[in-house]
Amino acid sequence: MDQELHIAHMKQALMEARKAYEEGEIPIGAVVAVGSRIISRGHNQVERLSDPTAHAEIIALTSAFNFLGSKYLPDATLYVTIEPCLMCAGASYWSKLGGVVYGAPDGKNGYGRVCGGNIPFHPKTILQNGVLAEECALLMKSFFQGKR
Ligand SMILES: [Zn+2]
Repeated sequence: MDQELHIAHMKQALMEARKAYEEGEIPIGAVVAVGSRIISRGHNQVERLSDPTAHAEIIALTSAFNFLGSKYLPDATLYVTIEPCLMCAGASYWSKLGGVVYGAPDGKNGYGRVCGGNIPFHPKTILQNGVLAEECALLMKSFFQGKR
């Protein structure tokens, strides 16, 4: 898929992240798209739902399954502003997602730190990172600076 489309979808994921920010949640946002069409959205709601699994990716994926009436999403791509954690990487594995695109790395909670060189995504999932990475990281940075 072309980079321009990745950027357009990541901008939408960033809009979701800003919603989380405004709600006092760690600002991570996600959208699921099939081609140029966004089929679901989600932002982190851990505090609001008092649920440590209410990550942006999980919310967007659940909504995508409902929308398509399918438990697998081989034609869909998940866009998320920050590197997914191990749980979300696992959720995308079980979803058989066509693609996962994320913005900035997360050296603390990202799957990469836990998995090292092992990729926890489905073998058919095309993985890409670094899309609007600076904007995605900046939102996190300003959130945590404000918390101090
Ligand atoms: Zn997660």
